[in-house]
Amino acid sequence: MPEPTTQKPLPPGMVLGPDGKPCRACASGAMFRNWKPTIATKEQARNQKSQVGTSAVAAVAASSVGPLPPLHNQTNCPPRSEELGRATWTFLHTTAAYYPDRPTPTQRANVLSLIRALPLLYPCSHCADDFGEDVKLNAPDVSGRAGLSRWLCDRHNEVNRKLGKAAFDCSKTDERWKDGPAD
Ligand code: FAD
Repeated sequence: MPEPTTQKPLPPGMVLGPDGKPCRACASGAMFRNWKPTIATKEQARNQKSQVGTSAVAAVAASSVGPLPPLHNQTNCPPRSEELGRATWTFLHTTAAYYPDRPTPTQRANVLSLIRALPLLYPCSHCADDFGEDVKLNAPDVSGRAGLSRWLCDRHNEVNRKLGKAAFDCSKTDERWKDGPAD
């Protein structure tokens, strides 16, 4: 008898992450707006996990049918520094939020390469230089999800501080970048 984990069948197109939970970063916004987590069994979670490896793209596409919500860049203009920054932080924090608790040596090496590439490739050059200096002083913690999320939060807060912005509460990174607010 499968053990119940939530309370309503998963809708078609919902994609589960490797942790067996609905993956917000894998599903369209429309999917999440129309769905409240209620029932799924562990067996369904296992079945859907295999979908991640085979037809996740089709699943996301299927869930995206219908009018799309507006994106912040409506004009199709090249991004300005703020927009580029916001999009990059979104990518980095979301990547950290979905990083494994126990990464393999290859996963650690890959995330280190990503971080080390930023000072070389990030298109805002003074931002890239400052970030590179900060990374030299503060070695990336790639030991696992919690450590990486915290390290990135601290790096982002360093930029916030430099720009005179309020610090973000790093105990809220999962809520902001993975789980959403508690209902
Ligand atoms: P952002 O700072 O982009 O943040 C986006 C969202 O992230 C926020 O709305 C909030 O919900 C969340 N958030 C905020 N702080 C944290 C945190 N500490 N941890 C987790 N989540 C958080 N701009 C410059 O003018 N000068 C620079 O030197 C510079 N360096 C940058 C270096 C890097 C690597 C990057 C990616 C961006 C840099 N930027 C820099 C851009 C700058 O950080 C902002 O992205 C930009 O000013 C837009 O700010 P924002 O207020 O929209 O929110």
